[in-house]
Amino acid sequence: MIIIDGSEGEGGGQVVRNACALSLVTGQPFRIANVRGKREKPGLMRQHVTAIEAACAIGGAECEGVTVGSSEILFRPGSVRPGEHRFAVGTAGSTNLVLQTILPPLILADAPSRIVLEGGTHNMLAPPFDFIAKAFLPLVNRMGPRVEARLVRHGFYPRGGGRIEVEIMPAPLRPIECIDRGALLSVSASALFAGLPLEIAERELKTARKFLDWPEEAFAARELPADRGPGNALLLEAAFEHGTEIVTGFGKLGVSAESLAKTAAQRMAGFLASAAFAGPYLADQLLLPFALAGGGRFTTVKPSQHARTAADIIALFTGRRFVFRPIEDGTHMVECTT
Ligand code: AMP
Repeated sequence: MIIIDGSEGEGGGQVVRNACALSLVTGQPFRIANVRGKREKPGLMRQHVTAIEAACAIGGAECEGVTVGSSEILFRPGSVRPGEHRFAVGTAGSTNLVLQTILPPLILADAPSRIVLEGGTHNMLAPPFDFIAKAFLPLVNRMGPRVEARLVRHGFYPRGGGRIEVEIMPAPLRPIECIDRGALLSVSASALFAGLPLEIAERELKTARKFLDWPEEAFAARELPADRGPGNALLLEAAFEHGTEIVTGFGKLGVSAESLAKTAAQRMAGFLASAAFAGPYLADQLLLPFALAGGGRFTTVKPSQHARTAADIIALFTGRRFVFRPIEDGTHMVECTT
């Protein structure tokens, strides 16, 4: 039994999601005490409960303590059941975080799967659908499996109601190198808005333009049906030859359009000025597939606490370790060692 203190390191939900995924892949049970111990509201939230329930359903697992507010969980994996599954995050919790929990065991399963997830698709503190589809999954696919994700309906906090569909053709993961991102091929800034005035999107785009020297036609407001809202997200995308980065600003009551757009645009400008392959979020999300591939390297910006914590959890289950090493061009090399 692997014992984890959920308040160590980053101390958030990712510890729980990664532990479920790793447990299903390695067959090792685990217990987490102090679940999300470093968060303002510790314990499981609705979206974590759904992620664990989804892991139980696809992995024939038994678990204890899986209720909202619970601070201790026990998870005993069974055998992975690929096929058709549908999970609904009862609130507007992130569908993409549920996907991250169940994807590793399903890409290594012995048959294809088709997954339907309902809930939020563009949530704060989580990867938006576009990030999963364009930044994360293409790299997973380069490692061997074929995963295709489709956004059927956007879902924003607090209404939810979004839907994504994911087709998974499993294959063993092979190590890859993501060192050089290649030439910049295209850029875009899309301000999504639903049930809110167009003016919000326009203010975001105007602000982003001040920090990003991108062509006029790269900036566009995109109105979604009003019944999807209220919701707003500014998606900044830079597609390179070998990888794509998406920086997102999430609209939130009390945060001005200018302020979220400025933060997102400055982050994108910083990433463009660096030579890193992976941004900070992609970096922590790549560790699990890289570890399961048993090798590989990528360059990134300064490694986050999320990344270091993910590496610690991965080492507990697999014994595989990551070395984070600063390199001359100011980026960091992240290497999986077996
Ligand atoms: P936690 O805070 O532990 O629940 O983990 C949040 C997860 O969401 C991490 O894997 C982050 O990389 C990811 N994440 C958070 N914000 C973004 C974002 N704006 N874009 C992409 N991924 C994100």
